[in-house]
Amino acid sequence: MDSKSSLQRWNYSSSADLYLVNAWGKPYFSVSPEGEVVVKLKNSSHEQKFSLMDIASGLQQRGMEFPILLRFEDILSSRIQAINEAFRRAMKTSGYGTYYRGVFPIKVNQQQQVIEDICRSGRKYHHGLEAGSKAELIAAMGYLNDPEALLVCNGYKDQEFIDLALYSRKIGINTILVLEMPGELELILERAEALGVDPVLGVRVRLSAQAGGHWKTSGGDHSMFGLNAGQIMDVVDKLKAVGHQDWLQMLHYHLGSQIPNIRDIRNGVSEAARMYSELVKEGAAMKMLDIGGGLAVDYDGSHTNFGSSCNYTIDEYCLDVVEEVMEVTSRFEVEAPVIISESGRSTASYYSVLLFNILDISRFDSGFDPSMIPEEHHQLLDNLYETLKAVGPKNLQECFNDAIYYRDDVRQKFLHEALSLREKAVAEKIFWAIMTKIESQLDEKKYIPDEMQGLSDALSDIYYGNFSVFQSLPDIWAIDQLFPVMPIHRLNEKPERRAIIADITCDCDGRINRFIGLHEVKKTLALHSLKPDEPYILGSFLVGAYQETLGDLHNLMGDTHVVSIRLDEEGELEYSREIEGDSVADVLSYLEYNPRDMVDNMRRTAERAVTSGRISAKERKEILQAYQLGMRGYTYYEES
Ligand code: PLP
Repeated sequence: MDSKSSLQRWNYSSSADLYLVNAWGKPYFSVSPEGEVVVKLKNSSHEQKFSLMDIASGLQQRGMEFPILLRFEDILSSRIQAINEAFRRAMKTSGYGTYYRGVFPIKVNQQQQVIEDICRSGRKYHHGLEAGSKAELIAAMGYLNDPEALLVCNGYKDQEFIDLALYSRKIGINTILVLEMPGELELILERAEALGVDPVLGVRVRLSAQAGGHWKTSGGDHSMFGLNAGQIMDVVDKLKAVGHQDWLQMLHYHLGSQIPNIRDIRNGVSEAARMYSELVKEGAAMKMLDIGGGLAVDYDGSHTNFGSSCNYTIDEYCLDVVEEVMEVTSRFEVEAPVIISESGRSTASYYSVLLFNILDISRFDSGFDPSMIPEEHHQLLDNLYETLKAVGPKNLQECFNDAIYYRDDVRQKFLHEALSLREKAVAEKIFWAIMTKIESQLDEKKYIPDEMQGLSDALSDIYYGNFSVFQSLPDIWAIDQLFPVMPIHRLNEKPERRAIIADITCDCDGRINRFIGLHEVKKTLALHSLKPDEPYILGSFLVGAYQETLGDLHNLMGDTHVVSIRLDEEGELEYSREIEGDSVADVLSYLEYNPRDMVDNMRRTAERAVTSGRISAKERKEILQAYQLGMRGYTYYEES
């Protein structure tokens, strides 16, 4: 296929297939016939698609620089609706006796706006919050004003935490204190008496079931949190002894996040439902079973039990949970509990997209030019050069074998002093020129021999993106998480280059070199060549869960600009909130620098330079202005 005909045949749906958009993006993201990624937003009265490129251009015209994090409020509402409706359907289908309540774990995305949006759009379903620390509890108390929504308190608790939770019950918030450690009960009993509040208690059980995936050690007998069977029985006995067995109403567990296999989910539910039923038999006033998080996101769209995917839909998840709870509790002739889940990842992931521009490209180039061959040279150079000239579609394997053979021979001859350093250098350049020529013809091959499989990766380009992995996509670095990454425009053009993406932290870990693929993790991403004077914008999708708050200040790259977007009453796009990213001064002050003192120090240093005649007074002014401007500037690359 020549490049002209390949250009003609390539269109937006080829790009959608290549980047698997319909597999991971449905129903929110797709590719338009104009060759751009579009987002579908829906509110109570309208449904519209918007091009991300148009959104990005609009923001740039308003003076906003990349990188920009887009947050789609309507998507967050849609995710809350999705899980609530899926549980409702599952319960209706199975004839389940009670109801479902969701809580959003604040740790998944602690941004104020997220909590506010969840409380607002979740009100219809009485969707509540889960707090794992004192600060999260304080945040939740400030926003949760629906007495039917739950506020589940997990995590290690001191007296202040317990008092706040008890006070929150006093003012009408439906707070549940979950015992994570055996010792917490004494303190709760003491504080409940002191404050005159009857608490509702839950107990976190350490199940023996374990789930696959990144977080498999969160569950199982060795999980860090939760009580084992013996400790739970001690809690029940203690409560009975003080006449408060009616306080214990909830059993909670959390097997881990991103559980890819539905079988593991079912096993966990089964064990917990059994425990729950036994606690009822023991006389505890049980009413609720909290199944924690774990509902996975299909980041690579493969719908498998691979760590970045899941082999079930949200409907299958809900139906399996409901059926399993029903099956076990009815076997024990126990009333079916209210089912609570703490889904964070599945609720928040789709909400945010990180957009960044490509600043530069480093292309692999063998650097070979025939004029480099010295007049007097070893025969091996001729052999390699002849091989280079001979590379053609019919003899790729032969040329590949020859090149490897000659390269090994070059190494040997150099060691035995039969070849000079200059000859070796030229020989290596010819070798890489051969590999580049072979690689450029591999696309035409139906079958690529094993030994040539890695060639494209070895010869890939590096695209430098204006973002920081550590700040915006920390899980790529920390746990090898995969996120869909792709260009958001030019999708009617075939991407001819293969690349890895480096961020601007100049840290060798600050890169993306693992990409989603249907059957494998890909080492490179297909990208377009840059066009002069035209920005090239990539999006990293499904980044709304965990990334924002885990991000750090590596290389002093701060928070990116954030723009929240929603459909307004007329079905038009509304930029509902703009949050300016950190300035250099902001980032420095987080680390206890004092930008004002630093400017003063600079003033003194520059003044000394004037006095000693190194610079003029005018230069002093220019230098100080540049320094102060830099302090106020964005921490990312800014177009001058
Ligand atoms: N509940 C608890 C106790 C957690 O620790 C977590 C996170 O690991 C979650 C819920 C959220 O899990 P996920 O994001 O998988 O829904």
